Amino acid sequence: MSRVLTGFAAVDPPERWPPARTRFRRERLEAPVDSIPGVGPTLKKRLAKLGLERVGDLLLHRPRRYEEPAPLRRISELSVLGWEGEEEVLIEGEVLQASLRRGRGRLQILTAQVSDGSGQISATWFNQPWLQEKLRPGTHVRLRGAPNRYGFAVRSYDLNGGSATSDFAPVYPASEEVSAAKLRELVSAVLPHARDYPDPLPASEKAQRRLPLKADALVALHQPRSLEEAEEGRRRLAFDELLTLQLALARRAAERERAVAVALPGAGELIERYRKALPFELTEHQESAIGELDADLARTTPMQRLLQGDVGSGKTVVALYALLRAVEAGRQGALMAPTETLAEQHFLTVEPICAELGVSCALFTGSIRSPDADADVVIGTHALIQEGFTFRDLAVAVVDEQHRFGVEQRSALAEGRSPHVLHMTATPIPRTLALTVYGDLSVSEIAKPPASRKPVVTAWVTEERSSDAYTRLRAHLAEGRQAYVVCPLIEESSTTVARAAEQEAERLRAGELKGFAVGCMHGRLKPPDRRKLMARFKSRELDVLVATTVIEVGVDVPNATIMIVQEADRFGLAQLHQLRGRVGRGGEQSYCLLISRSKDELTDSARERLEAMVASTDGFELAERDLEIRGGGQLLGVRQAGLSDLRFARITKDRELLEAAREAARSLPFGTMAPEIEALLGGAERLGES
Ligand code: ADP
Ligand code: MG
Repeated sequence: MSRVLTGFAAVDPPERWPPARTRFRRERLEAPVDSIPGVGPTLKKRLAKLGLERVGDLLLHRPRRYEEPAPLRRISELSVLGWEGEEEVLIEGEVLQASLRRGRGRLQILTAQVSDGSGQISATWFNQPWLQEKLRPGTHVRLRGAPNRYGFAVRSYDLNGGSATSDFAPVYPASEEVSAAKLRELVSAVLPHARDYPDPLPASEKAQRRLPLKADALVALHQPRSLEEAEEGRRRLAFDELLTLQLALARRAAERERAVAVALPGAGELIERYRKALPFELTEHQESAIGELDADLARTTPMQRLLQGDVGSGKTVVALYALLRAVEAGRQGALMAPTETLAEQHFLTVEPICAELGVSCALFTGSIRSPDADADVVIGTHALIQEGFTFRDLAVAVVDEQHRFGVEQRSALAEGRSPHVLHMTATPIPRTLALTVYGDLSVSEIAKPPASRKPVVTAWVTEERSSDAYTRLRAHLAEGRQAYVVCPLIEESSTTVARAAEQEAERLRAGELKGFAVGCMHGRLKPPDRRKLMARFKSRELDVLVATTVIEVGVDVPNATIMIVQEADRFGLAQLHQLRGRVGRGGEQSYCLLISRSKDELTDSARERLEAMVASTDGFELAERDLEIRGGGQLLGVRQAGLSDLRFARITKDRELLEAAREAARSLPFGTMAPEIEALLGGAERLGES
């Protein structure tokens, strides 16, 4: 028994170790899945769709949950009336005979007579005809399922041994093409390779934090004997993940420390005029963000700061401040947005202020390619970087909605030219997550919007009452206010979406919005047309903008005080919150009306999303709620951030583990977990390309 190998902490050695193999063979983990006996090209392809391409991927495939323990019963006990409808039980016995028949529709019913000496029962499987040949008379079976009036409905089974029916058997995320049972079989087959995994964590670290050995953790993850054991395994794997991330971030930060930027002299006359030109006082939060970035700009290390703030909290004012600091020093500022619409939007906001201050401002996007390269402020999409725009002398770059940029663009900015960089995001990210994902950036936060702002009143109405919603909207229009109507979300080509939006605008012009000037905004509009449309809406020539989600971020028309979102149940929580941020930008009370199908037609999570929207306007709170509803896993913007694909760590709940990982990252010697870091950064770069 290999007790030597087992851990320091809560996981006891497994009763049965998988047979010993040559230890620590990374190549085995790298081997493609079709190196596993029984896996052919078709299965390989199907597994690839689940992201399972190598043996190691299977070992890291995290069970969604574990089966509850089920009691072993004798078959004779099951026939006693009253068993029916009881929870899952286990039975064990021998197959007497099996037969296949057709049920209603395409249903195929496989029935096997099973006997355990105490009695006999007919066990049924649905739509698994291929099993028939395996259920030969005399086959030993262990079945987990529920007894019912007709016999025994099988939920999982083991033929001649296996672990699918054991208590706490793992239930894997599966697909229509690859069942959870198949995955269980494959994972069991490769589990002996758990010991091929190098354990990168120093023993002292494991002892101090009471973490099991990596191999133990993997076995505990896939074949736990209790839920506690599974959790101990998960904790270890989560720790590795968080530690790798922290080490990678530290390395990136160290690389940056070597880059050199030009320190800017302090704020002067231009900044003073800018402050005077603003029709409002800056809030305390805006001032402190400005203070922080002033300190960064005075250094010769390039600024890498994240400016975080909910929609409408006043980030753009701060961003423009940063750009003008560059201009004041006789150099250039650039503002980059993820889409053309956003870049144009920024241009429409920024250009007039620049003009007033005597600062030249140019727009560069995929379709406008020859602006004045000499302009003081250049606004554009990431085409600015990708297509090698030649700046005269770039000193400050502001990257809006930075999570939409891949890592590559980020580093191109940071390495090629070493300007000071301010990343802005309106996707509120919980603090814990910000630490994890942007751990290499310093963070400024605008936690409170300007005081004049009233929270948007949000109501959820079902379709039958949508005419009330439009009555409300018309009342706003009658008072000279403006409105948005957001079209249903259709996940099709941009052409289809555009056509649907235009049809909807047409329908509204003839119906609910008759007599009002209605514009239609979608991603298919040519940039000049889009600009014209936005300008018309801004100048109040249009009363209503019917739009697809292209208005999600950045559009800023304070006179727009009401928004209707059609089929709101189809949008994600973060998206709804972003959409809602388009209203409530002036001093007036604003409204957001969410229209959905009737409540009992909605999924639980759709209902929870809409309830959350009504209950809160706080983006940070909603972001946490979103994590809960979606059950962790893929987090807001994390994939796009290109940094992490956390499998085992749960951002909201593993705070303590995250702190421990940060602490460990500081104390561990250079080079610890180097291959893991490479893999992580390599993966990030791949994501960045897509
Ligand atoms: P964000 O970029 O964070 O979504 P913006 O900078 O676009 O927010 O600001 C939203 C609106 O609030 C704009 O109309 C802006 O002019 C206004 N605003 C910004 N700062 C203040 C402030 N300190 N007081 C009043 N209004 C402000
Ligand atoms: Mg903005």
